[in-house]
Amino acid sequence: MQTRREFLKNTTVVAASGLTSADLTASGAAPAKRIGIQTYSIRRQLKQDMAGSLKALKDIGFSHVELYGYEQQAGKGSVLGYSPKDYRKILRDTGLEPTSSHLEPPLPSFYKFGDGGGTGKGERSIQIAAYTKENTGSILEFWKRALADHQELGVPVVVQPAMPQVNSLDDAKRVCEVFNQTGELARKAGMRWGYHNHSAEFKRIGVKRGEDWSPEMEITKDSYPSEIFYDFLLKNTDPGLVFFEMDVYWAVMGQCDPVAYFNRYPGRFPLLHIKDRDILGSTGFMNFENIFRAGYAKGGLERYYAELEYANPAGSSPLSQMESVRKSYEYLANAAFVK
Ligand code: MG
Repeated sequence: MQTRREFLKNTTVVAASGLTSADLTASGAAPAKRIGIQTYSIRRQLKQDMAGSLKALKDIGFSHVELYGYEQQAGKGSVLGYSPKDYRKILRDTGLEPTSSHLEPPLPSFYKFGDGGGTGKGERSIQIAAYTKENTGSILEFWKRALADHQELGVPVVVQPAMPQVNSLDDAKRVCEVFNQTGELARKAGMRWGYHNHSAEFKRIGVKRGEDWSPEMEITKDSYPSEIFYDFLLKNTDPGLVFFEMDVYWAVMGQCDPVAYFNRYPGRFPLLHIKDRDILGSTGFMNFENIFRAGYAKGGLERYYAELEYANPAGSSPLSQMESVRKSYEYLANAAFVK
């Protein structure tokens, strides 16, 4: 089991203690809440004004961010069009600490389970092509470059947010092998590697008698017992190499209870994505109090990111995206159960 202390100890690059001067109140006594946000939440603003909209997050009160938008072209990495060096400077100038980053190997992608919580806007319910013997080498090369780029960015933790397609138990086993190998690359670089879910991970995988299982096949009494893919990942990855950043909203959308996972796999969830159907805490859809309490008590929760995936698509809300983010910050800042 990986404890909170171990997670931080293994994270050697930036602010390994998790504390900065911003954690201390004016009296220098009690630590203040550190509330983070996934920058995807303001993706439209970032495209219009990168430095200005990051500064707006700092002004709202966020202390740290999880990046999105890393990609490689012709062997060179960038974040939303900026070189690692330039993006690091932008972040440093805003005072936001970049604590992690979302990225995935550049395989063909599919919006296979884009249910979007019934909103029709499941734009990040993305899957990438299955991992195979043939593409494993290029996947690991991608991660080596990506880890080096994130060291240059000053980001100590990288997270994959897209599920490789799984059509058989062999596919599932290969995913776990590659995840372990990727985690090992990160460990050697003094960094940490984790996986972020959507809802497709909570579908069952299994083997039907005499043949490989595929999603189109019905599970019948003749099938071998099947397993939820997320559980398969948790059981078949090395806790010292692969951590889980649970997106609690997508777990619920997958009809699974985050609290049950914290109890079943203690210490595996140092990071969480805190998301609702709209502004955090505004819908009654998510029981964030139970999630935070069990996350701290059992899950190993160390750090969380607010995420707004659906708030204010054009025309649907009178609030600007940034106002939705501000109200979500206020919800977390005022919630007694959030540390
Ligand atoms: Mg998420």
